[in-house]
Amino acid sequence: MKARKRRPAGKVAGPAEASVLKFSAGGVRAPLKSSAAPDVDAAGSVETLARRISQAVSIPTVSYADYSRIDLKQHRSFHAFLRQAFPLVHKNLEFRKINDYALLYFWKGSEQSLKPCLLAAHFDVVPAEDSGDNKWIHPPFAGHIDGGYVWGRGTLDIKMSLVAIMHAAESLLAEGFRPARGVYFAFGGDEEIDGKKGARSIASFLAEQGVELEYVLDEGTVIASGMYPGIEEPMALVSIAEKGHCNVSLIVSAGGGHSSLPHKENAVGILCKAVTRLDSRPFPARLTDPVRLFLKGISRHSSFPERVVLSRPGLFWPILKIVFSRNSNTNAMIRTSAAVTMISGSEKENVLPVAAQANINVRILPGESIRSVLDRIEKVIDDSRVAVRPNPDWLPNEPVGCSDPLSYGYSAISQAIKRIVPEALILPFLLSGSTDSKHYTALTPYIYRFSPVVLNEDELKGIHGVNERISMDNIRRCADFYITIIRITSEKAL
Ligand SMILES: [Zn+2]
Repeated sequence: MKARKRRPAGKVAGPAEASVLKFSAGGVRAPLKSSAAPDVDAAGSVETLARRISQAVSIPTVSYADYSRIDLKQHRSFHAFLRQAFPLVHKNLEFRKINDYALLYFWKGSEQSLKPCLLAAHFDVVPAEDSGDNKWIHPPFAGHIDGGYVWGRGTLDIKMSLVAIMHAAESLLAEGFRPARGVYFAFGGDEEIDGKKGARSIASFLAEQGVELEYVLDEGTVIASGMYPGIEEPMALVSIAEKGHCNVSLIVSAGGGHSSLPHKENAVGILCKAVTRLDSRPFPARLTDPVRLFLKGISRHSSFPERVVLSRPGLFWPILKIVFSRNSNTNAMIRTSAAVTMISGSEKENVLPVAAQANINVRILPGESIRSVLDRIEKVIDDSRVAVRPNPDWLPNEPVGCSDPLSYGYSAISQAIKRIVPEALILPFLLSGSTDSKHYTALTPYIYRFSPVVLNEDELKGIHGVNERISMDNIRRCADFYITIIRITSEKAL
């Protein structure tokens, strides 16, 4: 996430586990301009929205990979909070609680011929350790507000968007606004553990109803400033595609025995050789459409000679490939990545392992698949003693291919971005992480991932880390953004 290296690619960041944003902003150099705001405060001020975010954060809706550890009382408290905080939304919109992980609102449009859009967010958060080196300045579930920030787990990932969407609807309802195009709000409660019960259930429900969507907007990349040498304007990165992911188990079985009489090769040794082979032969680099479009977009704002290289990424691919491969952030943009994350052998110091196992976490570039990943890993390892199979503990997902950056949905998002940061360059991008939006692919080909905040590196560290917090400026941006995007659903063409 901290991009550093050389031009032209060295400052372009990439992957992160955090789902709100998978991008290094590299620091904000100058205050960003804000346009004249829409009527954000019709049903309350930005301070009111900050208070709502604080209340939302103080309900610890923590996700764990083991669903039995999730405290559903907190999920239900969060639902009760929404009902209490946004009465007009609950009075005027259709609401369906599909299960404790899946909330769906529908704001009916005045024109039935228009396909509805869907704004997605999630209300679960990752756990927050608050001790030792990971001690928070303000406790992670206190919802502390000071002059400049609301603090706490979920302020950036991604309760701020969920609450801002509800706040926008509440404000617009108070004004008597009704959209021409219907709008769904889809809120999952298990995004951090892949959305199996949340977004996936919502998507199934909508499919059963025969719903087709104009577009989906989910959390994603953000507005980054100062990230690219020579480009002064902030970059609003709208992810039009998403890498897939899977976990692959490498398993070696062997005879075991006492360590005083070791075999020539034991299970751990065989496994380590397999892992070394995998590390020494990375997946091939490839230029995908989102990255090509991103490079062409920044080329228009670069100076010579970068302008020439970036404007023809296909032609200069041999050079770009070398430069991108040098930095882990940019490397993730051009190839499937495979990282060994867990390894195990014997449980006792003097016992030879009966079996050894490694987990490879793979992030799959659009254009490849879980099947092609498994095949390649098997081919590279080339050792029949090493079994290669999907790790059943984790739900894999295929990459989500490119959505059109000239669509109605992309235009709507762009207009709302222009509203909050008029000088921003709006650029298509590839998300290295994963979001709930992957579950909606059967409902529309137009899926975009963007979070309307500007973050510096320190703020970025808070996502899935310590001292997560959102600034008042970003709260204002979220409010303005979602009000605008709902307002312009009334415009048939953009
Ligand atoms: Zn998230």
